[in-house]
Parts: sequence; C-alpha cells; structure tokens
Amino acid sequence: MDAVVCKFGGSSVADAERIRNIQAVVRLDPRRRFIVVSAPGKRNKTDKKITDLLYLCHELADQGLDIDEPFHLIRERYIEISGDLEVSLDITKLLADLDEQIRAGASQDFVASRGEFLCAQIVAAFFHGTFIEAADHITIDSEGMVEERSYKSLSSTLSAEGIYVIPGFYGSTPEGEVKTFSRGGSDITGAIVARAVQAVAYENWTDVSGFLMSDPNIVANPKPMRTVTYREIRELAYMGANVFHEEAIFPVSREKIPINIRNTHYPKDPGTMIVAQRDTKDRVVVGIAGKIGFSIIFVEKLLMNKQVGFGRRLFSILEAHGISFEHAPSGIDTMSVIVSDDQLKGKTQRVLEDIKKQLEPDRVDISSGFALIATVGEGMVYRPGIAARLFAALANAGINIRIIDQGSSEINIIVGVETADFENAVQAIYQAFC
Ligand code: ASP
Repeated sequence: MDAVVCKFGGSSVADAERIRNIQAVVRLDPRRRFIVVSAPGKRNKTDKKITDLLYLCHELADQGLDIDEPFHLIRERYIEISGDLEVSLDITKLLADLDEQIRAGASQDFVASRGEFLCAQIVAAFFHGTFIEAADHITIDSEGMVEERSYKSLSSTLSAEGIYVIPGFYGSTPEGEVKTFSRGGSDITGAIVARAVQAVAYENWTDVSGFLMSDPNIVANPKPMRTVTYREIRELAYMGANVFHEEAIFPVSREKIPINIRNTHYPKDPGTMIVAQRDTKDRVVVGIAGKIGFSIIFVEKLLMNKQVGFGRRLFSILEAHGISFEHAPSGIDTMSVIVSDDQLKGKTQRVLEDIKKQLEPDRVDISSGFALIATVGEGMVYRPGIAARLFAALANAGINIRIIDQGSSEINIIVGVETADFENAVQAIYQAFC
C-alpha cells in the first residue's frame, strides 16, 4: 500500500490533548503509517520547550551545578502527558535513567535527543505502534550528512504492516554516539524516513496552514502559497521564510516525493505542496521574502577588468577573515560584495585595511544598513516584463534600489534597498505580483 510519512512538530505534541488530536489526524488516512515526532514544544507563549530545558540541564550539569529545577519541569511534563493518555509505559523509570545519565556527564547531543526519544515512546505506546530508535538506523557523518546506508537500514526495519513511530532530530555518528541535527531537525528525520519508505507524500504537520506568499508581519493577510517547487522554497527559506528546515528538502527532492505542509488545527486545509515542478502559467511569482542586516563592501579601481585575479584576491581577503558572502555584483571597474552584518562584526576595520594594502584600490568603503528582498518564481527571469514590473512597482513607491542581482538562478530576482525602505518595498512587490 502507498505510504505517507507524517511529521508532527513540537506544538502538535505539546500536551496529551494535542497528541489525541494527531491520532485523529493519523486515523483519517490509512496510508499514514510512519509517524515522526519532535519533542513537546510550548503550550503557550510563556511555556518552555522541552529541548531548551534539556540543553539547560546539560549546561548546568557540565558546570557541576544542580539540574533539579529544569529537570523537574521536564519530568512533570512527560508524567502529565503519559498519565493523561494512560499509556502502558514506565515513564518514571525512563526519566530516572535520564536524570542519572545527565548527572553522569552524558553528551549534549545525547541529552538534547531525549526530548524526541521520550515523546516517541509515549506516542508509540498510545498509538499501539512500534517505536524505532533513530540512532540505530540513521548515521550522520562528521559533516552532518546522512550516510546512504541509513536509508537501507530504515527501509528494511520499516517493512512490516502497522504504525511506526520514530523520534526526530537525531541519529548517531559512525562510531555509534548519538548525534543531533541542527535545531528544528525533526523535519530532516521526516524526510529521511519518507525517502527510505518511498512514501507517496511527506506530510509535515505544524501549527500553520503552510507557507504564505509573504511575511504577515509586513503584508496584511498575504495569500497562502498552494504549490511551490523545491527550488523555490529553498530560495525563500534562505531569505528568511522559515516554516520548514531547509536541509529537509534534499532527501525527498531527489526522489520527487511531494512535501505537504499542513496544520494540525485545521486538518482539512490543503496547506502548501512542495513539488518538483509546477505549472507557472497562472502564478509567476510564488513568494517574496527578505531580510535586513546586510553591508556592502564596495571596491573601485580603474582598469580592474584588465587585472587578472582581482576578484580572487578580494575574496581571499574575506576568506582569511572567515567571512562568507551573499552576492557579488560587479561592474567594469567596480566590485561590490554583500555580506551579512554578523559576518563582519568586529572585523570591518581590519578588512578595510587589508583591502587597501593588498589591492590598492582607488576607492573602498563598507556601508551597512541594507536589506535584501528576493522575489521568487520558476522561470521568471526569462519571462519578458517581469523585471520591469518589479522595478516599476518599487519606483512608484518611491524606493531607491541600491542593488540588483538576478544572479545565476533563473528563479530569483534580488533587490537591495536601504533598511528604512524594507517594509514598503516588500509591500510594493507583493501588490505588483500577488
Ligand atoms: N526539538 C528540536 C528543536 O527544538 C528539533 C525539532 O523540534 O525539530 O529544535
């Protein structure tokens, strides 16, 4: 039978009632047999995420301090959830073991992973499903990449009938030590399981109905994004639209398994489908995302275009300072490099001095206070009139465009504006296309 993988985020498993709710969601479709869970998240605005409490416990234990207070909150939460769900699981014993392991100096990754581990134990017991220890199957190398053997191992383990529950967020090193992904990494586990079982869909259940075409804090009531491609979502995620962990795209995009972002509070809402290809006829631009906090390093030198290696030397200065860059639009005698402010922090003067010394430019300066806005849509760069519409919208709103980068990807036009113009610019672009 076709299989669907469902990943439930922290807010969907935050308490017993929400776990009952996800059971109702799972029961709606018999193909939903592979369940990946996060650790319980916040139940309200002032609440604490279990993962944050676990990190805190580890830090305290590491400094030889008492963990009683945060561990008490962890214990209470799991006891309450499992008691309320009346699962037959010795949660007290599992918690006592964890308490002891933390005090005995367990690694940070191990401690953090227990949030998902315990949650998956409870959900598996409640669903009468099979708990699968992620660390026994998912191998993560030193660069944080998932080793190929993980897929084989999972697919043979998950081959019987029935429901399986897998904790998200972690696997193990090739040496067998528990290792977590970066924060929000349960999305990655869901994608790995989806690829391993060759799912027909990877449903990612959250507390929002998928992506919106722009940030609701900037644009009033932005339209929902119904269908978007893997490449488009990656560009948007990179520019700050974050509902879904960007690294979670790769395992499923390879296999063209669609990702469906859904809302546990409105299970009938279709959410957003992330697919390999979409019909771009009715919607050219799928989303507009942006970020503030960028600086421009501007270098001018007459006859720069004749100097072989000028760009390389500029980039190696940045490299020597450990600075990664975002874009590098260049002219005949000018080069500008856009970097995020946190990359430059505390290094500006030294970078300037090195550029002056090593490149002897006619002019160099670093100015901060820029925002970048990405207007994203497959094939839009080749579509006549799109760029004109974008620039006209900004001109009509009286916004001065400081940077234009159509880059090498044909799905994205990036404009840089002054921070003060950021919100107006996003609104103007949204009005023009959505
Ligand atoms: N629990 C982990 C975190 O808070 C992973 C996740 O929820 O995806 O980052």
